[in-house]
Amino acid sequence: EVEVAIKVVVVGNGAVGKSSMIQRYCKGIFTRDYKKTIGVDFLERQIEIDGEEVRLMLWDTAGQEEFDAITKAYYRGAQACVLTFSTLDRESFEAIESWKKKVEDEVGEIVMVLVQNKIDLIDDAVVHTSEAEELAKKLKLRFYPTSVKENLNVEEVFRYLATKYLER
Ligand code: GDP
Ligand code: MG
Repeated sequence: EVEVAIKVVVVGNGAVGKSSMIQRYCKGIFTRDYKKTIGVDFLERQIEIDGEEVRLMLWDTAGQEEFDAITKAYYRGAQACVLTFSTLDRESFEAIESWKKKVEDEVGEIVMVLVQNKIDLIDDAVVHTSEAEELAKKLKLRFYPTSVKENLNVEEVFRYLATKYLER
C-alpha cells in the first residue's frame, strides 16, 4: 500500500538529458532519441525507503524548456526537484540558479538536488565537477554527477530526494 506519493519535476536547459533520465529511472532503458509519449505527463516508479513504500512521479517537459513556455500545471504541487545541467554545455550550468528561482517562485522551497549529467563524456567537459561542487555548496544542495547512459548515480538521485522528503 502506497502512502506517500511525491511529484518530482526535472528541470534544466534543453538536451541536458532530462527525458533520458526519467526514462532510465522509470523504464530502465536508454535510447539516443527519446520521443515523449503523447499524452503522458509523467512516468512513475515505486521504491521502498526504510520500509515505507514511496511512489515517485517524474514529470517531464514536452521539450519546451524556455522558462515561460512551461505551464503552471507542470510545477503545480511539486514536492521535489532535480536541477540538471550537462557536462558538455556551459550555458546549462549557468542557468541552474535561474531554474532554481523559477521553481521556487512557483511552488516555494522544496527538496532539490543538483545533477551534472553526461559524466561519461568528462574528457570533453566544459564544466568542471569542482565548479559544480562549489555551486552546490553555495546553494546548499546535494550534488550528484550522473551518466544516464552508463546508469551511474541515477538511482541515488531519486533515492536521496525521497529520503530527504520523508525527513521533512
Ligand atoms: P532533454 O532535452 O533534457 O530531455 O534531453 P534528452 O533526454 O532528450 O537527451 C538529449 C541527448 O543527450 C540525447 O541524445 C540523449 O541520448 C543524450 N544523453 C542523455 N543523457 C546522456 C548521458 O548521460 N550521456 C551521454 N553520452 N548522452 C546522454
Ligand atoms: Mg526532453
